[in-house]
Amino acid sequence: MQTTAAPKPHTKPEITHPSQLPAVDKLLLADVMQTLRHSYGLEACTQAVREVLGRLRSRLLAGEALHCDAADMLQEAQQQLEQRFAPRLRPVFNLSGTVLHTNLGRALLPQAAIDAVVEAMAAPANLEYDLEDGGRGDRDDLVESLICELTGAEAATIVNNNAAAVLLVLSTMAAGREVIVSRGELVEIGGAFRIPDVMTRAGARLVEVGTTNRTHEKDYLGAIGEHTAALMKVHCSNYAITGFTKSVSDAEVARIAGEKGLPVIVDLGSGTLVDMRAWGLPHEVTVRETVAAGADIVTFSGDKLLGGPQAGIIVGKKEWIAQIKKNPLKRALRVGKITLAALEPTLRLYLNPETLAQQLTTLRLFTRKPAEMQAQAEQLQPLLQLLLGTGFVVETAAMSSQIGSGALPVESLPSFGLRIYPASGRQAGRLLTQLEARFRKLPRPVIGRLHEDALWLDLRCLESSAQPAFERQLHELGTADHI
Ligand SMILES: *Cc1c(COP(=O)(O)O)cnc(C)c1O
Repeated sequence: MQTTAAPKPHTKPEITHPSQLPAVDKLLLADVMQTLRHSYGLEACTQAVREVLGRLRSRLLAGEALHCDAADMLQEAQQQLEQRFAPRLRPVFNLSGTVLHTNLGRALLPQAAIDAVVEAMAAPANLEYDLEDGGRGDRDDLVESLICELTGAEAATIVNNNAAAVLLVLSTMAAGREVIVSRGELVEIGGAFRIPDVMTRAGARLVEVGTTNRTHEKDYLGAIGEHTAALMKVHCSNYAITGFTKSVSDAEVARIAGEKGLPVIVDLGSGTLVDMRAWGLPHEVTVRETVAAGADIVTFSGDKLLGGPQAGIIVGKKEWIAQIKKNPLKRALRVGKITLAALEPTLRLYLNPETLAQQLTTLRLFTRKPAEMQAQAEQLQPLLQLLLGTGFVVETAAMSSQIGSGALPVESLPSFGLRIYPASGRQAGRLLTQLEARFRKLPRPVIGRLHEDALWLDLRCLESSAQPAFERQLHELGTADHI
């Protein structure tokens, strides 16, 4: 409320004492309140009015004179109510250039998954009910055979995310004993997932072998002892070790373990189900290849390259999966029906590789042609230049997108978008930060990337179907002064 900054002479009545403030009940009877009561309920409206009056009372008691009327108070109460009831989890435009952006919710689900989730939320479903014999079922059964078919594994089980999968696997297979991991694979994923810490929480002891850049077969052999429970390989998801390097392949580690009668656990991280080279993308080892290399247990995420809901998928040998499912932690880490409803149709899309790149949203985004994004950039450039005025330069520009979420960290996808920077060097840093904020404060926030003194808007994740909605709100960018 602009009560103190109101222009002189004051057009609003002066209030100097709390006794001059209107009563709560009187404000609640105002016309605008009837509409607000309809939307938010009497209790929330009463609370908002009380809070507004309370703040004004404190200012009066502090000796301030106010210039406002009931309409101002009601308007403030309305703003407070709108803010309180506005959703906190909001859709945004991801123009950051990172397709699987962990902070923006990773994979976008395919339409088939969205439809299945809507249905599963609204109706009871046979989550743990065997429709054949009317007995109790197992929720993993809904997707297990599909996962086995797609990966070549004997058995599978699903938990909340891949971090949970690694925890559950280590707790089942190695509690109280040792797990051998190469020093080059002691990964930290953003959000505090660190292999050494998960190992400790699972009750297993980490035995590091090799050095950061080089690990040999003899390092694994030398570390195996009577307390060894398993050998573990971890996908270097978000970094690459290059130069003078040596690592031991999954197949070699599996052979060493096999000779000693020990299991091999592979945390694949992203874990793709298909050879991405078929779509001209860089190669990422598939779950099937890892299973075929001899891994006893493989874990991977549902919402990274797979393109489905947040989930952790554990596949491998029947006996191990059976033990993992008996661990009481499984009950604590299991997924709900919404996750399974989304996962099943997502997996089914993989049965038809011909339509996969069209149907699986993430793969469709990965495989968009730079020319498509370029055409969009050329359409949007004049509009944005007009809206931002002469203070900024808006250019179309070639750029590189990242797959994200620890998949192929050093590979990038050629893309196209807009590069926006202040026209003059004076206060350029401040202007750029303000510009980034103007995009972020749109009704549907636009998340770009600040890089090399410019705001980069990578159009890979703005499919043409979403472009009209994107354009429609741009006039609300406002001017820098409004921020
Ligand atoms: C991403 C990742 C995880 C964690 O997976 P979430 O599904 O995010 O829990 C664990 N290990 C590796 C190697 C990863 O890349």
